[in-house]
Order: sequence, then structure tokens, then C-alpha cells
Amino acid sequence: MSENNIKSIAVLTSGGDAPGMNAALRAVVRTANHYKIDCYGIREGYNGLIAGDIIKMGPRSVKNIINQGGTILKSARSKEFMTPEGRKKAYDQCVKLGVDAIVCIGGDGSFTGAKVFNEEHGIKVIGVPGTIDNDIFGTDKTIGYDTALNTAMDSIDKIRDTATSHNRVFFVEVMGRDAGFIALNSGIATGALDILIPERKDSLEDLFNTFRTAEKVGKSSSIVVVAEGEELGNIYDLAKATKGEFPNYDIRVTILGHIQRGGSPSCADRVLASHLGYGAVIGLMEGQNKVMVGMQSNKIVYTPIEEAIKKHNEIDKDLLKIAEILAM
Ligand code: ATP
Repeated sequence: MSENNIKSIAVLTSGGDAPGMNAALRAVVRTANHYKIDCYGIREGYNGLIAGDIIKMGPRSVKNIINQGGTILKSARSKEFMTPEGRKKAYDQCVKLGVDAIVCIGGDGSFTGAKVFNEEHGIKVIGVPGTIDNDIFGTDKTIGYDTALNTAMDSIDKIRDTATSHNRVFFVEVMGRDAGFIALNSGIATGALDILIPERKDSLEDLFNTFRTAEKVGKSSSIVVVAEGEELGNIYDLAKATKGEFPNYDIRVTILGHIQRGGSPSCADRVLASHLGYGAVIGLMEGQNKVMVGMQSNKIVYTPIEEAIKKHNEIDKDLLKIAEILAM
């Protein structure tokens, strides 16, 4: 028997999909089964909870998915769940099934939804951080980040082959919304000339000076990695401004886009997702509620969901300095 009277849980994936969500789902379902807790899978995020698109899941429902990208439950952004009426319908579904708790695999928006739902209706909730952006407080890494980072790195490596062959300058935009983790780390890993991230105030003059220094030290091709949320300007404007300053440069722009969201999860993401999915069920059994499960220094930790939503992990400023030194 489970402790703390958790007899039945339901799990959903919500917001943007991330590689490793399936591995997390598998871990939730199999841990629940191990501890004799009934487990339901909700299709298409909060939309499925409202509509009652819910299936009973057992250990065999999650076979052969640990290596699959995306989410077999499908994900969605639900407008109806943003309304009290929508959430009431979702609550009615929980009552109908006798669900004690919801495990929400998603990003900060999904956690906000879970928090509001808990405050209104008292159903226990626990968040599992699944987003490639790595922008969630309370965990060293989010599920999907490592895979996305490696996809970005592989893609930039390929772009570098062309950049070098033609003496070109490439501006490459990577994902991450308002966070620069993917940009900073993929930039370091690919030896980018410059890395533009929203966490640092960048100026065009600094960027141009970096190009001037690169010319002086004899660099013939360059890659500038730009975070999606960079505040200095959009990538096309940055490229245009650079062309204005350096008319002889052959400049190209590449936006990596959704390629970074897909693909088979990396080993690190599968292990993280397995840990966190397990930790979510154990947390519920131990009486955790309205928290997010995370990994910090290889230990499972529970952070109040408000904090996970509001606070942000700091970018490692030393890495920015290291990137600058190593680029020349
Ligand atoms: P990602 O970081 O990958 O985009 P996310 O979880 O932040 O993922 P969102 O689109 O922000 O993605 O949120 C997912 C869903 O969570 C929304 O479509 C909505 O159904 C629910 N949600 C978000 N904010 C709220 C809120 N304030 N109240 C109720 N539900 C919410």
C-alpha cells in the first residue's frame, strides 16, 4: 500500500514538447505500478483533462518509449484551462475517476496552471520540469535541455564546415525563449566567435569590435550564436547592421528552429527523466503537494511550485568570459 493515502494519480504532458517527456511518463507509470497506485494518462495536456480524454495506464502502456522524442500522450496549450469554468470541468473529471493527484510534465506555464488548479479545487499537484529551455528554478537541468543542446551543437558544427569553406560569417539563432542556456553552451561547445544572450546587455559596438579583433588575429570565418530572446535585436537586423559596418563580409543567417525540439533523448535526459518521474510519485507518497521535483547536485529535491515559476537559474557568467577568451 502507498503511504499518505495516494491511491490514484493522473499524468499529463503540457506546453512545448521536449525530448525525454516519454521517459518521464514511463517512470511515473512504472513507479506508480510498483507501489500499487492506479495511474491514468491524460491526452493533450489540460485539454484532455477537461474533455475526459483519459486512459488507464499500466507498465506495458509505456513499453518502447524511453528512446522516443515528443510525447505519446501528446501535448497542448489549453485556453479553456485558463478559465475557472474550464478548471471546474477538469475537477469534475478528477472526481469521476477518483484521482488524488496530478503529475504535470511541462514548463512554467503548465506549473502555473497546476498551481491555480490546486488552489481552487484541492487536487494535489506535482510538477516535473520538461522543457528544452532550462529556464526553471529548482533543478540543475530540465528534461530535454541536454538533447536540444546537443542537437544545436551538431547543427552548428555542420554550419561551421560551410562557414570555413567559404570564409563566411554565420549568425545562428538557437531556441531558449528568454533564457540563454542553449546559446551560451552550444556557443562554447562550437567555438563561436560571439554569443548573444538576453542575460547580458550586448551592444552592436561590442559585436563589431569582436569582429575587428577576429580580423586582426587572422580569423577568416566566424559563427555568432544568438539566443532566441536576445534583446539587442532580431537576428536579421543584427546581420544587416553587421553588413553595414563590414560591407565585404559574406553574411548568412540560420535559424535552427524546431529541429532542436525533436529527436531521441540523450542518455543524460533519459536518466534525468527517469529520476524525476520516479521522484514525482515518491514525493506524492511522502505527502508533497504543490511542488516541483528537480535534481540538484544529483539529489532529488522538491521546490514549492511558486518558486519554480518565479525564480530563475542564473547563467554562469564565468562561461561568458571563457567563451570570449577562447574565441580568439
Ligand atoms: P514551454 O516552456 O515548453 O512553453 P509551458 O508549460 O511554459 O511550456 P505554456 O504554453 O506557457 O507552456 O503553458 C501550458 C498550458 O498551461 C497553457 O496552455 C494553459 O493551459 C496552462 N496555463 C498556463 N498559465 C496558466 C494560468 N495562469 N492559469 C491556468 N492555466 C494556465
